[in-house]
Amino acid sequence: MLITSFETTITVSTHSVDEFEYEAIAHLDADISPALPYLNATLSRGIYLPVKPALSWRHEGRNIGFWPQRIAVDHLESREQVAEVIQQLVDLVNRVWDQRAEIEPDHTTHERLQPLEVYRLLPQTNCRACGESTCFNLALKLVAAQAELTSCQPLYEDPAQADQRAALEMMLASKWPAL
Ligand code: SF4
Repeated sequence: MLITSFETTITVSTHSVDEFEYEAIAHLDADISPALPYLNATLSRGIYLPVKPALSWRHEGRNIGFWPQRIAVDHLESREQVAEVIQQLVDLVNRVWDQRAEIEPDHTTHERLQPLEVYRLLPQTNCRACGESTCFNLALKLVAAQAELTSCQPLYEDPAQADQRAALEMMLASKWPAL
C-alpha cells in the first residue's frame, strides 16, 4: 500500500443561484510519483506528463489529476460523493501500486483523442437518434466523456456497424480498471 492516509480539502464552485459543484483535493501522506507510469499503463485515455510528473484522466465526465502528493477531482455533486470518489481514487492508486509487478509501466505521453477520429467511425447519417443534431456533435461529447457511445442506437442495431462499434468501444474505453 502506497497511500496510508490523506486529508481532503473541498471547494464549492457556484455557477448560478442554485447551480454549484464541488471540487476536491486529497493531500496524500505519500509521494505517488513512482506509481504514475503504472497508472498510465492502466488508465485508458490518461495523459501522463513525466517531467512534472502528473497524470490527468477523464472519467465519468470528471477531470482527475494525479500529482506526486495530491489527487484532485471536479464535477462532484455532494460532500458524500466527494468522500466516495476520493476514496475510490486512493484505492485505485494503491491497487495499481500493489500489482505493479504484473503491469508494464508506461512512461510515454499519449495523444489526446481527437473528435475527428471518433466521428470517422460513427454512422455519419446525422439521424439525431442520440439527441444530437449531428454525428460530429456526439463525437465532441464522447471525446469529452460527456456522452455514452450507447446513445448512438444505429451503431448497436445495425450488424454492418459491428466493426466500427468495436473500434469505438476500444478507443473510448474509460471504465474503472479491473485489476
Ligand atoms: S445516433 Fe449515431 S448516427 Fe444518429 S446522429 Fe447520433 S451519432 Fe449520428
